[in-house]
Amino acid sequence: MEKKNIDWSNLGFSYIPTEQRFVSNYKDGAWDEGGLTADANITMSECAGVLQYAQTCFEGLKAYTTEDGRIVTFRPDLNAQRMVDSCKRLEMPVYPVEKFLAAIDAVVGANAAYVPPYGSGATLYIRPYMFGISPVIGVKPAQDYQFRTFVTPVGPYFKGGAKPITIRVSDFDRAAPNGTGHIKAGLNYAMSLHAIVNAHAEGYDENLYLDPATHTKVEETGGANFIFVTKDGKVVTPKSDSILPSITRRSLMVVAKEYLGLEVEHREVYLSELKDFAECGLCGTAAVISPVGKIVDHGEEICFSSGMEKMGPVIQKLYDTLTGIQMGRLEDKFGWLHEIK
Ligand SMILES: *Cc1c(COP(=O)(O)O)cnc(C)c1O
Repeated sequence: MEKKNIDWSNLGFSYIPTEQRFVSNYKDGAWDEGGLTADANITMSECAGVLQYAQTCFEGLKAYTTEDGRIVTFRPDLNAQRMVDSCKRLEMPVYPVEKFLAAIDAVVGANAAYVPPYGSGATLYIRPYMFGISPVIGVKPAQDYQFRTFVTPVGPYFKGGAKPITIRVSDFDRAAPNGTGHIKAGLNYAMSLHAIVNAHAEGYDENLYLDPATHTKVEETGGANFIFVTKDGKVVTPKSDSILPSITRRSLMVVAKEYLGLEVEHREVYLSELKDFAECGLCGTAAVISPVGKIVDHGEEICFSSGMEKMGPVIQKLYDTLTGIQMGRLEDKFGWLHEIK
């Protein structure tokens, strides 16, 4: 298979349409067979549920070329299950796990020419999503839905090395107590846009959101979970019902314990204890881990001893190990890689 003529290492993170996408429609209470299409556009009612009341959820994962030339995805079963959870909370019909996995394989397979080569640092980003497509004007769930998956090649997240970022403690909330913070709903992102634009305007890279009920505990940023390292090398991640359960974070916890022999804690983390940590990172599919050098809490700076120049040593080891597994350089002890043939 001939790869597309793309300057892989200089790609950014923006939408580049590829040749095929997968579409399935839910009508009269059932999903159709679904299939691939070259049509990148959607025609729908002006009154579609997604347009009026934001009834939509999504997933995000990547396909990689391994060192030995296989095309793989990473734990796609967890994305499938998380989308099931999102759909249930949003009163949307569940897209069956098996069909979800088959759709991803079909789309990646059909766009294999867009999967960046090993060593380029680029990857193929996969975006499954679902939305209410039938007209809704009185507030209620839509009757008909569409499930789609497209792919788009994205460049290396860190060009020229991973520089630690600076985060502020946000006065805005990203989730409500007993709300939708734990599911991957577009609405969570809509309400975070003002906060991120404002953070950037004030010179910060990201927002640290506190728990919406008491504003004393660390939750996450707009699109990534936190991971902290204590001074004695323990890995700690915040626990809360309103945090989105990141697959990268869950995988890093296993990597810490089972590959690196580190102690791991998943517990409530108070804002007041941040100053006691040695290292901090943000984890998600996009960057795997972005190192955090500094958190600013209303003028008070919390600086991690790993500094503003490079990743801390433990975060670096976690990063190298997880990316090593994803790229097929390290043993895949738990069967996390799914090969697309
Ligand atoms: C998608 C997402 C993450 C990261 O999850 P991964 O499964 O690791 O990509 C973290 N926080 C939020 C709010 C998200 O939407």
